[in-house]
Amino acid sequence: MTPPDFDFPGRGVERPAVRYDKQGELTDSERVERAMQAFARDTTRTVATYLESCIRCGHCAEACHFYVASHDPQYTPIWKLQPFRRLYKKKKITAQELRDWQELIYDSCTLCGRCTLACPMGIDIAGLVTRARHAMFAAGLVPHELHAVAERAEREGSPLGATPKVLKERIEWLADEHEVEIALDRPQADILITLSSIEIMKYPASLVALAKILNRMGASWTIRSDGYEATNFGLLSGNSDWQREMSLRMIQAAIVCKAETLVLPECGHAYSALRWQGANMYGRPLPFRVLHISEFLAEAVRAGKLPLTRLAGSITFHDPCQISRRGGATSAPREVLAALGADLREMPSAGDANWCCGGGGGVVTVHRADDHRHRAFELKMAQIDATGAEHLATSCSNCRLTFDDGQAHFQWSKQMESLLELVADHLAPRAA
Ligand code: SF4
Ligand code: SF4
Repeated sequence: MTPPDFDFPGRGVERPAVRYDKQGELTDSERVERAMQAFARDTTRTVATYLESCIRCGHCAEACHFYVASHDPQYTPIWKLQPFRRLYKKKKITAQELRDWQELIYDSCTLCGRCTLACPMGIDIAGLVTRARHAMFAAGLVPHELHAVAERAEREGSPLGATPKVLKERIEWLADEHEVEIALDRPQADILITLSSIEIMKYPASLVALAKILNRMGASWTIRSDGYEATNFGLLSGNSDWQREMSLRMIQAAIVCKAETLVLPECGHAYSALRWQGANMYGRPLPFRVLHISEFLAEAVRAGKLPLTRLAGSITFHDPCQISRRGGATSAPREVLAALGADLREMPSAGDANWCCGGGGGVVTVHRADDHRHRAFELKMAQIDATGAEHLATSCSNCRLTFDDGQAHFQWSKQMESLLELVADHLAPRAA
């Protein structure tokens, strides 16, 4: 299967560093005013406690891949929050300072949360950067590529043009080419499967893998064209209305088809958006379970529903930050790899303390961040090479995309694989 040419819209196109919102170009004083209002809205007691708690020890610096890759003090995690702190202290800020801050808030933070592990005060810097992005969005200061994908997702239901019509066509093509039944728009199903546009457009083999596994399990499942897109660029760009809208589509689709379980795809931020923030967006507890696909696979392995053949050779696993460290699903992929009989060669800081691939938080969409991101990616390559593992796998298509880009940039020998696709490739033959 040859994936189509793929890139995020707007990447590589020279545009101004700022993106103006639909209300047209804002004046500098309007930008400052709107940012201040958003900061004020987001300054909860928790945020105030975090901002008051920093003891300026600097431990967070060595935890951040962007600082370690550059040793530039401006990339120290807590420094990225300076304007937030100044507004909290009711000190004046200028529009130029907000513009300068854009690069720190969007290009230089993947929201990976590694700095919080190192912080003796437990300050959730990724959470604060996410809130700071609300103010930047309000001020019309989102990098144009990230704004483009977020706006397209809100308008079309997919950031990459995987509209319901495109989804249907791709499912028909994949089902025909691979002779597999891919359930679409069943009125009722126990399991609602959701997808990432990156999978639909760049890694369509993952849809085939899903169908093969679920059909083999004899599961009652469906994809729904009224709620399939699990990526959430509203969250990453800083527009919580768009974030809510994307989440509600999946939630409503799960309710309509009476699903007991909603399975999220190999996508890190999809997990944080729905698993950990979905109920808040919905306004009450979700009437179904939410599992990442690696958790779903681990559960199936545990229940004896997924007999697998052995994966030959050694493998190392890259933990997607939003699923492992910030999501808590660190053991699930390892259970699956154990069921595959894999010779797992862990990286020194595997699991919760993993190094980020450098492309999360929307950073991979931002063209001007490429050099910086590639320097951070060198840390990851060195770690992986040191394991000596023959295979490399992850369970996030955004990480996979970042690895593919890094592989091409550095002409690296390692090829990132999908945990989901590895499982589908190792389904044991049915007993005669
Ligand atoms: S969340 Fe990650 S990328 Fe952002 S400042 Fe902390 S360590 Fe750096
Ligand atoms: S590690 Fe925590 S307390 Fe220390 S400088 Fe960083 S944010 Fe502040």
